[in-house]
Amino acid sequence: MRAWVVDRPGPMAGGPLVEASLPEPEPGPGEVRVRVEACGVCRTDLHLALGELAPRRPRTVPGHEVVGVVDALGDGAGRFAPGDRVGIAWLRGTCGRCRFCRTGRENLCPDAAFTGWDADGGYAELAVVPEAYAYRLPADADAVALAPLLCAGIVGYRALKRAELPPGGRLGIYGFGASAHVVAQVAIGQGARVHVLTRSAAARALALELGAASAGPAADGPPEPLDSAVLFAPAGALVPVAMRALDAGGTLAVAGIHLSDVPGLDYQAELFRERRLLSVTANTRADGEEFLRLAAALRVRPTVDPRPLAGADRALADLAADRITGAAVLVTG
Ligand SMILES: [Zn+2]
Ligand SMILES: [Zn+2]
Repeated sequence: MRAWVVDRPGPMAGGPLVEASLPEPEPGPGEVRVRVEACGVCRTDLHLALGELAPRRPRTVPGHEVVGVVDALGDGAGRFAPGDRVGIAWLRGTCGRCRFCRTGRENLCPDAAFTGWDADGGYAELAVVPEAYAYRLPADADAVALAPLLCAGIVGYRALKRAELPPGGRLGIYGFGASAHVVAQVAIGQGARVHVLTRSAAARALALELGAASAGPAADGPPEPLDSAVLFAPAGALVPVAMRALDAGGTLAVAGIHLSDVPGLDYQAELFRERRLLSVTANTRADGEEFLRLAAALRVRPTVDPRPLAGADRALADLAADRITGAAVLVTG
């Protein structure tokens, strides 16, 4: 099958992602094989290609926003039937026994396994997944529009939950890429007043189109104090900026898996008065199921930039250079 692998992680100019012809994967016990229809391009794929996240195995196929149709069942797999449409996301395994798994926090399991890092992902014609970690997806929806929901959407949604936005509250969103523009739609759909802070003029225009109350550069600050904020931009320098914009008792959730160093905080101006700063790590399956139901009910519609599977390297380079508005999605077959 046609696929892409991360060969030698490093700068995009060195071509870390290479096209490869791989044997068709066979589903193991409890796994299903999926014929890929579409796979979203996530910033984590870029961190892996650049070597900012160390590879866990050589020549791994990236991609963890996979929409496809089940075409083969491993031994004992029975949750899905051939022909069912499913999604494969970032989290693909947990131990089920540790204190995190036993207390509803499987996202923190030290033995968690991830698609496109510990196992091959969806920049390919076929992918396998343990059926217990797949999501059932509607057969009648557009595969390309579903793909970004599987990581950008699910992990962004966990960040929104961690930010504890009160009903009808004031939310700041720093950075406005794939994840942020999905989360903004959820928050607006639930009645929040959303302020988007980003340097990209195209992203600011998209934010206003989606119903944001304001959109401007981060340095200018939002037009009112924030109850909650989510930092999507992988820029630690924005942490103090966002903390300063919070009202007393407000919470900033940092959504990224990779962040540049966070500078020191001015205690009085940026942390005192019970402001809270916290991080977000992946998601639980419960987050995923909850978000996918909510996204369907609120008619969340990602802005997509579809690319052929053959253009995966260019899509990643465009993401690196901030040339994508919304979410890039590889269309397979
Ligand atoms: Zn565990
Ligand atoms: Zn991702």
